[in-house]
Amino acid sequence: MIVARTIREVREKTAQWRRGGQSVGLVPTMGYLHEGHASLVDRARAACDKVVVSDFVNPTQFAPNEDLEAYPRDFERDCKLLEEHGCDMVFCPSVEEMYAPNAATYVEILDEMPKQLCGKTRPIHFRGVCTVVSKLFNIVQPDKAFFGQKDAQQLAVIRRMVRDMSYGIEIIGCPIVRESDGLAKSSRNTYLSAEERRAALVLSRAVFRGEEMFGSGVADSETVLAEMRSIISAEPLARIDYVSAVDGETMLPVDEITDGVLVAMAVYIGKTRLIDNFISGGPQ
Ligand code: AMP
Repeated sequence: MIVARTIREVREKTAQWRRGGQSVGLVPTMGYLHEGHASLVDRARAACDKVVVSDFVNPTQFAPNEDLEAYPRDFERDCKLLEEHGCDMVFCPSVEEMYAPNAATYVEILDEMPKQLCGKTRPIHFRGVCTVVSKLFNIVQPDKAFFGQKDAQQLAVIRRMVRDMSYGIEIIGCPIVRESDGLAKSSRNTYLSAEERRAALVLSRAVFRGEEMFGSGVADSETVLAEMRSIISAEPLARIDYVSAVDGETMLPVDEITDGVLVAMAVYIGKTRLIDNFISGGPQ
């Protein structure tokens, strides 16, 4: 596996691959990799000739009060996992490599969608995500890029950016990978104490209950959301940021849960903010 630290190295190698007629898949990550990330790499491995994984904790998507400094990092372990899953190149630039000191150009969707759900508590988050993913697209120039349904709003935002900016890149959404007890895998799970780890199960429990209610024919959003909220509120360590049912593309609230509606939540367990979701009727 090639370990590339500069934009130039990535450009040269991927250009060589493209000249040789090989397709390139990109999996953007912030590192501290787990089986959720690995599932994206496996999917890319199956769909493309060459797989590039970026491993970069992107400062522009963190607000000053967020966990940029504390965000877990273990590059050696990441490389081991990536090699095991057949990654061809990992791109792990420094912040200075990605952002010139006076970098001031951003990619931002001037619409309601990035302001909904996570955008309410994280107003600059999706601007940072769009900017870094746009840069990664320009650097790697992949044929396909792979994102997890775990970050459902991010996936919708990226699809919108790709459409609006005419990136000729196919965006592939991949299912949520969970721990055996249901908790969605996340690099941030490492922040949880043993007691919080147990308490964090209210997220997946609420997701499964919501899915079950939808499956048994309950279509009224408030009925489903109220039941999900009551499951979460019963846990003293949990504090709801939001539990919402929204249109899968616009991210705007819907009164009725029909196929393709995104039912998403963000919940603080102690100081750790976790997210989970389901799409009614499964991904469209
Ligand atoms: P992150 O490193 O958290 O920025 O995530 C990088 C990519 O991995 C994003 O596209 C995430 O949606 C995806 N991802 C993270 N956790 C999971 C999971 N549990 N299942 C599937 N994909 C995931």
